[in-house]
Amino acid sequence: MKTVILDAGHGKKDSGAVGVTKKFEKDFNLSMVLKVNELLKKNPEINVILTRSTDVFVELVDRAKIANKAGADVFLSIHANAGEPPAKGSETLYTKDMDKPFATIIHKYLMSVTGLADRKCRYQNLSVCRNTTMPAALIEPGFLTNQAEEELLFNEEFQNRLAVAMAQGICEYLGVKYGVRTTPAGTYPVDVLLNDVPYEGLLIEGKSWVPAKLILNALGARWSYALRSIYVGDTKVDTKNYDGTSYIKGTDLRDLGIVRGVFLDPDAINTKRVLIYPKESVTNE
Ligand SMILES: [Zn+2]
Repeated sequence: MKTVILDAGHGKKDSGAVGVTKKFEKDFNLSMVLKVNELLKKNPEINVILTRSTDVFVELVDRAKIANKAGADVFLSIHANAGEPPAKGSETLYTKDMDKPFATIIHKYLMSVTGLADRKCRYQNLSVCRNTTMPAALIEPGFLTNQAEEELLFNEEFQNRLAVAMAQGICEYLGVKYGVRTTPAGTYPVDVLLNDVPYEGLLIEGKSWVPAKLILNALGARWSYALRSIYVGDTKVDTKNYDGTSYIKGTDLRDLGIVRGVFLDPDAINTKRVLIYPKESVTNE
């Protein structure tokens, strides 16, 4: 489990930068952090902590303390810039040496979305980066003092795309697969491969469970569903039901003689893979 701290800059009495049309930086920062949180919290390998989730004021040193106390793996602070016109563009800031690899990845994702002038990923002495004990970075995606950039920063669709990019950057740095797939508590996503077609399975207590209906149909097996259980032929099989999908154990397919073998792929890097080896020929009744 990795712990990610998302830090929405400023708050309450501290509005941060004020835009050309009087929009507040604190509102942009909070909106972004809530969006990134929504994306990351779907990942069972990531635990997200927000330094603020509403319009409240949190001291800079307390933001770092929250992260240090949680033993977080990474810290991302979201801000928006202000400067004398015609200041413009996107930048990612870091302070500690250990921040740099994380900030570099974040900046790559930031630039891929904003398309604004590249102010680079660079050093600045920042309280939240200086006082945190884990890799930290602070993004300034654009200038609220620039009318075109202010409009872009408060565009809902732009914010959604930037949120996805930040979630992807965090996942890349942590070596965690980014995906929006939700799985029930205590289960982990697993790709089930049958005849080169991927299906979405679950890993529960180290055992792989495959989507019964799709896999049994693909194998041409005779099956039925009654009283929340899958029957293969006349045999009742251990069944788990989540969100309208019934799952059965991969190993049961082998034990029932429906397939030749079921293996957890030892070479899978991110999401684990389950390989199902069907029999040479399948007789469909
Ligand atoms: Zn700020």
